[in-house]
Amino acid sequence: MSSDTRSATERRDEVRQRHQEAADEVLPEQTGLYIDGEFVDAADGETFDTVDPTTGEVLASVARGKEADVDDAVEAAWTAFDEEWSDYSAGRRQRVLTAIADAIEDHVEELARLETLDNGKPISEAKIDIRGAAEHFRYFAGIVRENGGETMNAGSRYGQVIKEPYGVVGQVIPWNFPLMMASWKLAPALAAGNCTVLKPAEQTPLTALRLAELIDDIVPDGVVNIVPGYGEEAGAALTGHPDIRKVAFTGSTAVGKQVMKSAADTVTDVTLELGGKSPVVVFPDVHPKKAVALVKSAIFYNTGECCEAGSRLFVHEDIADDVLDGLVSAIDDMTIGDPLDEETDLGPKVSREQVDRTMEFLEKAQEEGGQFLAGGGQPEDEALSDGCFVEPTLIEGLDHDSEAVQEEIFGPVLDVFRWDDYDEMMALANDVEYGLAGGVITDDITKANTTARDIEAGYIWINSYHDLVAGLPFGGYKQSGIGRELSADTLDHYQQTKTINLSLR
Ligand code: NDP
Repeated sequence: MSSDTRSATERRDEVRQRHQEAADEVLPEQTGLYIDGEFVDAADGETFDTVDPTTGEVLASVARGKEADVDDAVEAAWTAFDEEWSDYSAGRRQRVLTAIADAIEDHVEELARLETLDNGKPISEAKIDIRGAAEHFRYFAGIVRENGGETMNAGSRYGQVIKEPYGVVGQVIPWNFPLMMASWKLAPALAAGNCTVLKPAEQTPLTALRLAELIDDIVPDGVVNIVPGYGEEAGAALTGHPDIRKVAFTGSTAVGKQVMKSAADTVTDVTLELGGKSPVVVFPDVHPKKAVALVKSAIFYNTGECCEAGSRLFVHEDIADDVLDGLVSAIDDMTIGDPLDEETDLGPKVSREQVDRTMEFLEKAQEEGGQFLAGGGQPEDEALSDGCFVEPTLIEGLDHDSEAVQEEIFGPVLDVFRWDDYDEMMALANDVEYGLAGGVITDDITKANTTARDIEAGYIWINSYHDLVAGLPFGGYKQSGIGRELSADTLDHYQQTKTINLSLR
């Protein structure tokens, strides 16, 4: 319960003022398309607004890239590749990646505030993202020199297997971790020796543009091009571009399928990091408090806007009441509000559209017999009425085949199921089209390992959640995607293999 006695209007005005001051301090100077090392207007001069989801105020007007701009960016990238970047040794690329990491780390506070303004994520989490982005460049700087290829002596043949970059790659990223997703894409592409054209999400283009400003003196012109715009315009033009040799996409499964289909026309290599509906399995041996802390973080981190969010809870009947009671009081204790405040646990969703989408799922869940153990709507506090807030929500009583259970809600909404038969529980845990991640909470090492193997997903946490470590591959089974991020496998995805077979006769 808050001890703040000010009126809702006073508190709302304070938030607006804080956001205005932050915007004055951290908004990037350049909001054009970043092509060939220059910030330029879109060819047709059009722009779009990016909005602060906390206040509803327009933050900036950004150039709206379309097909002609994507063409320019792809051409600039090929020129940079042919004339300069393809001559860079691994050591030189390593120095570039390290310098980018340093530049990000020198601006953590500023970039985090900018991310919070544009996306609405709590500032404490935004700082983790920005540091993670820098770390990502460092990881790929570290492994780039080990990418030496193989040789083989086979009788009268001497074989060399070498890895070559694709040349120019197209990358499309979502709005949930804007700068971190940019780093997940840019770092391995550059490490592998490619030039790139990257389209940030229309809701959150600002940190990618600020990154372009920061790396302008570090990366040769044309090596990195950033083209903000709409998915159906800039995104589709990029992923279907005939001169793009590899496409990397993160976003919804529905759009991922379209991207894959359009890449088929030119037989272009694709990696996809798509949606999830991940199960978290709680065994009865653990202390309920431990389970509550982990389950809460699994679903509510980043306002539930995580592809890997643990959004289906399978809690053993023996401790279900204790865990659910604990979750309800943990939700009561959460601070929902201004994401620029260090104390805030849950900020707004990224956009009004995303609020509407979540609310539709909640209405449908209620119609289908779901009971809200907590939340279920938007906060009543008038001070939050400008923002895109949704209450942290627990739903019990839904059939496992209902929409709110099968589909990715991408909000702070957890579906709860009790279990006592392991095989029945596991059949449900795997009964979704997704297979991105999962969680197991138990102190029994054998159960932990067998359950981790039984869950059909690409990444399983045992007694933790969300912590991603560079070097451990991240990616999905089933319709959650193709390919792996964060690891040496990723470098492979940005290269093609050439075999040179030399006759020794
Ligand atoms: P999208 O999949 O539409 O957006 C992801 C990115 O793809 C954005 O940059 C988007 O552009 C772009 N895009 C959209 N259409 C195309 C296209 N035809 N060709 C190429 N690129 C395209 O997700 P939404 O933002 O619409 O969110 C809808 C739902 O998707 C969410 O509620 C969530 O369930 C899921 N999602 C999953 C994510 C994940 O990490 N797995 C991330 C984001 C969303 P634009 O900037 O115009 O949106």
